[in-house]
Amino acid sequence: MPELPEVEGVVESLRPFVVDQTILSVQISEQLLKSHQQGKQAIIKGESPADFAQQVTGYRITALTRRSKYMFFELMDGEGAALLVGHLGMTGAWFPVHELSEITETKFRNHVHVIFQLSGGYSLVYSDIRRFGEMRLLNQVEDHPPLMLMAPEPFSEEGLPHYLAMAKLSKYKSKPIKAFIMDGHVISGCGNIYATEALFRMKIHPNRQVSRISEKSRIELYKAIVEVLQESINRGGSSISDYRNVNGGAGSMQHFLKMYGKKVCPVCETPTKQLVIGGRTSTYCPNCQK
Ligand SMILES: [Zn+2]
Repeated sequence: MPELPEVEGVVESLRPFVVDQTILSVQISEQLLKSHQQGKQAIIKGESPADFAQQVTGYRITALTRRSKYMFFELMDGEGAALLVGHLGMTGAWFPVHELSEITETKFRNHVHVIFQLSGGYSLVYSDIRRFGEMRLLNQVEDHPPLMLMAPEPFSEEGLPHYLAMAKLSKYKSKPIKAFIMDGHVISGCGNIYATEALFRMKIHPNRQVSRISEKSRIELYKAIVEVLQESINRGGSSISDYRNVNGGAGSMQHFLKMYGKKVCPVCETPTKQLVIGGRTSTYCPNCQK
C-alpha cells in the first residue's frame, strides 16, 4: 500500500504535467459505471461518474499538493475554487501520457478507470488494479469531515506537540505503541512499513503500551518516524508490490528497510517474530525490541 513517501513521490513527479492545465473532458471506464449502477461507488465517491465527469470538466488545476496520504488537486474556474481529493488505495497509479500504449506494464494498462484530457495535450490516466483508490470532488476541504480530523503533517511544527498530547488521552494510553503511531488522528501518514522501521530503530516492542514509554522516548520515536519518512521520500519511496510513481518507475527505499518483511534481524541475527496489531502484521526482533 502506498504510504506518505510514495504519495509524495507521485505528487512531485506528476506536478509538472498537471499544474496550469485545464481539464477538457473526463472518460470513465465501463467497470466503474457498472459498479455505480450496482450501488458500489468504486473509486468515484459521493456522486455518480456522470456528474463527476461533468462537474470536473472545465476546471484548471492550479496546484497539486499532498496531505497525509491524500493528493489534493486544487481547481479553479470562472465561478470559484474546488478541490479534487485523490487516494491511491492499494494499487492506484497515475500516468501522464499521449497514448495508452505508453503505459508499458500490461496490468496497469488493463485497469485504466479514469482519463482526464488536459489542455496541453496530455491524457492524465488513473489506473487501479484492485479499485480501492478514491476520487472525490469537493467545494472545500471542510466538506469532507474525515479530512479535517487528520493529524498535522509529520514535518510541520504542530506534529510533535499534537502527538504528545494524544499520548496522554485515556483512549490511547493503554494502546500498543504500533497501533498508536499508525493512527491517522495521531500522526499523519505513518503506515505499516515506516512504523515497523521506526520501532526497530528505537528498539521498542510494537506491543508495548503507550503509557509504558517515557515522554523522552516518545519524542525520540517521533523523530525516528520523521527521519525514516524523510529518508524514504529522498529515495523515491519503497517499491513494494504494485506501487509505481508516475513514470512507471519505482523508488529504492525497500533496499534500505531493516525490519519490514525481514525473516532475520540484521543486527543480532535472531529470527524475527510477527504479531497482528490493529489488524496489521507487525514484524519485530524479540531480542532487540523490548
Ligand atoms: Zn535483533
